[in-house]
Amino acid sequence: MSFDYTVDVAVVGGGACGLMAALRTARAPGVTVAVFEKSTRDGCNTQISSGSLAAGGTRFQRAAGIEDSPERHAADILAASGDAEAAPLVHAVCAAAPQYVEWLADELGHPLELGLDMARAGQSVPRLHADRGRAGGALLIRTMRKAVENASNIAFLDNTPGEGLIAEGGAVTGVVVRENGRSVRVGARAVVLAADGFAGNAAMVAAHCPDAADAFYGGVSTSTGDAIGWGVALGARTRNMSGYLGHGMVVVGHGTRLNPVLPFLGALLVGTDGRRFADERAQGYSKLGRLIAARPDHRAVLIWDERMHALAMRSELMRESDAAGAFRRYPSAEALAVDLALPLDALSATLTAFHAVSREPGAAQDAPDADTDHGPLKPPLYAARITSGILTTQGGLETDPTGRVLHTSGAPIPGLYAGGGSASGISGPTSDGYMSGNGLLAALGLAWQIATHLTP
Ligand SMILES: Cc1cc2nc3c(=O)[nH]c(=O)nc-3n(C[C@H](O)[C@H](O)[C@H](O)COP(=O)(O)OP(=O)(O)OC[C@H]3O[C@@H](n4cnc5c(N)ncnc54)[C@H](O)[C@@H]3O)c2cc1C
Repeated sequence: MSFDYTVDVAVVGGGACGLMAALRTARAPGVTVAVFEKSTRDGCNTQISSGSLAAGGTRFQRAAGIEDSPERHAADILAASGDAEAAPLVHAVCAAAPQYVEWLADELGHPLELGLDMARAGQSVPRLHADRGRAGGALLIRTMRKAVENASNIAFLDNTPGEGLIAEGGAVTGVVVRENGRSVRVGARAVVLAADGFAGNAAMVAAHCPDAADAFYGGVSTSTGDAIGWGVALGARTRNMSGYLGHGMVVVGHGTRLNPVLPFLGALLVGTDGRRFADERAQGYSKLGRLIAARPDHRAVLIWDERMHALAMRSELMRESDAAGAFRRYPSAEALAVDLALPLDALSATLTAFHAVSREPGAAQDAPDADTDHGPLKPPLYAARITSGILTTQGGLETDPTGRVLHTSGAPIPGLYAGGGSASGISGPTSDGYMSGNGLLAALGLAWQIATHLTP
């Protein structure tokens, strides 16, 4: 079979999964790696993400006196997703997580800390790690791209989209890419599909995630499911195609998001009738999206006070919402009710009955004695009209725990690997099963596994 050129490992997609797979594979001296990226200008989801990295059993947790482990992390994920079949994969990526979190901090200098201010539903202990300034995924991508630039055996080719796979006798032997306006055949011992999912492809979303077909789309335009299609054409199996990361705190008319910590600080969620309709702290933000989608007008209102506001403003996404004017500050419940067209009587009754209960920063989810009751919300109040959105899909090509893509026969397809949004993931078949941090865990964790498999 003829190729225009060959490398050892060809990576399609230069987001979290692709960059991690490249960096870790290229640790082995003499291994040549090429990353083919569709367009850094249009960007990747990692870049616009909050960059929160879930990992159990890190030195950051130990320093904070928090007992955790990859096993406990995996148990929390499986309890949320209900996808017992994925247990070997979930355990594998959870085992990788503390290793790559410490590697990112110690080897690449990414300024990580444990986010004690980042409580999330379903996480039995604090385990989200974030950069100290809460700059988010943009900083993570900058850190990883800089390391790629410094690696002499990695070539990063921007504006060079993959077009398809090359296979011979059922084994993948390379990839076709669009380089400088022409199709180029690149031979490779292994091809890593790291091109994310299909949330930016309306036809695929309608076919696989019909409940999100009309939802606001909050991801990048490059997630069009290309790699999943190539795998399927080769006979690969897919899984969890109906699973996605939803978001229940997208601000209506702005598309920015509120900080998901607000419910854990004691924020109140009401429908457009001024009444509560859900336990604010019991839902992950992905599941909350579905609950809001089921409301009249697909709308709800989140209300918080000055104490919560000061804490929530630590995150970049909240600062973005602020800059966009996506929420307002009100001197009284009356002013809020008038501005957001909520029935004042119902809202006043809800506010009187509601007590803001917060969890102490860093406390375990199963420690209700760490709750503080702050009593009713005190004006001035902040509020925003919120709706549901889809951020990324979480299903795709089924892999084994080392990232090898499986054929419908159940056997691995030789030479083909997938991770991140291109793979079937760890969040189960619906948007309810997503736990905070699963997206980057499926990307970085599988990349770590793939690289360990390729260059042990
Ligand atoms: C707003 C938002 C916030 C989020 N916050 C978090 C969070 O805090 N924590 C968390 O764990 N998860 C979060 N997620 C989910 C997480 O960002 C994704 O699950 C994760 O980034 C997926 O990584 P990836 O490497 O698979 O894809 P990406 O980072 O999207 O990278 C894929 C790359 O492939 C390229 N590509 C696509 N098609 C081709 C092709 N044909 N040829 C070549 N290249 C191609 C794209 O241009 C892109 O650069 C968030 C998502 C969004 C949208």
